[in-house]
Amino acid sequence: MPHSALDRFTDAGPELLINGLTLDQLALRAGGTPFYAYDRAAIVQRVDTLRSGLPQRVELHYAIKANPMPAVVNLLASCVDGLDVASIGELRVALDSGTAAADISFAGPAKGDDELAAAVANGVLINVESADELRRIRGIASRLQCPAQIALRVNPDFELKSSGMKMGGGARPFGIDAERVPELLDTLRSDELVLKGLHIFSGSQNLREEAIAEAQSLTFELTRRLTQFWGNPFELINIGGGLGIPYFPADRPLDVTRVGEQLARLIDENAHWLGNTRLIMELGRYLVGEAGYYVCRVIERKHSRGQTYLLCDGGLHHHLANSGNFGQVLRKNYPVVIGNRLNEQPVEMVSAHGPLCTPLDILADKVELPRAEPGDFLVVLQSGAYGPSASPTAFLGHPAAIEMLV
Ligand SMILES: *Cc1c(COP(=O)(O)O)cnc(C)c1O
Repeated sequence: MPHSALDRFTDAGPELLINGLTLDQLALRAGGTPFYAYDRAAIVQRVDTLRSGLPQRVELHYAIKANPMPAVVNLLASCVDGLDVASIGELRVALDSGTAAADISFAGPAKGDDELAAAVANGVLINVESADELRRIRGIASRLQCPAQIALRVNPDFELKSSGMKMGGGARPFGIDAERVPELLDTLRSDELVLKGLHIFSGSQNLREEAIAEAQSLTFELTRRLTQFWGNPFELINIGGGLGIPYFPADRPLDVTRVGEQLARLIDENAHWLGNTRLIMELGRYLVGEAGYYVCRVIERKHSRGQTYLLCDGGLHHHLANSGNFGQVLRKNYPVVIGNRLNEQPVEMVSAHGPLCTPLDILADKVELPRAEPGDFLVVLQSGAYGPSASPTAFLGHPAAIEMLV
């Protein structure tokens, strides 16, 4: 049997507690529903568990894109080794957290000159995505009289198999095609720019340990070839991340111990050319996704031609990913619970819908739940990543969701 996100409630009382706090307490703290609550203990524990599974040598970075709430970023800044940003806004949040500029890296296509200048002037590592970007960085560094710290983001010649989102292999807007990297490396041999290393990110939301190991093995092989061409070990290699979390009933959580063992073996096999190169993994959803809850209230029960609806005050304007409209091909339900009836058996099949005038505003489609009444809490689990910041919050003009780190 696959483990499900619901297993954590097997022995629970009626009330969902988030880091020890009741939903009533949290709703009062938020000033109402809907709200997002992120469990700080769960985030810290996730980092600890991951660190104990991975080889000690591997440094952990948090990709802010997954959840940019400043309190969450500050918490993670205190327990990981660095932050990855992809815009000037995220860059400011990262610097505000007190993280040293040298431990912040800036990736992403179509960086503006203002963004590149902010990174260069502050000593943030730029993951260079194209030859043209490299040319612009040279110009900016010489105008600011400031040495730019860079790594080349390589678009690998392989894909991360079974990954929810592929971001490498084939033609991509991301990174420099692997076969074009040597000629760019040559231009960096006598240069003002400081080349720190390589960034290879091939995909995300992967739940298969073997697929992750295969991508990591190909990443090491590509890095070995480029290291040989460069002539010296790089200072750092960002080997990407891609660790997924279970969202849907058939999903099985990753065995990070296995991921760690496989990676340890690869590091051993490649020790002869790796030298003291720092190895970095960058993770977003794996660190925060399971620690987050989206909490809304049932406004009314409605029956329409044999179907029971729970009409709720929260919806896709806060949680696009849960509605199935953030990259899913076939919509599947995130795990949902009635947060004040955890110990009641499912007795009816319902669909939960939000307040937006569009059939896309689905919170849960035909799920078995205990009988829920108006005023009850409908809670979407696995909601700590790609929540409000990845949702069309202005659509239909409802208030924004409050976010709390608790
Ligand atoms: C989106 C992204 C991440 C984070 O992805 P997750 O699936 O949330 O772990 C990490 N690195 C890069 C370059 C990204 O674009």
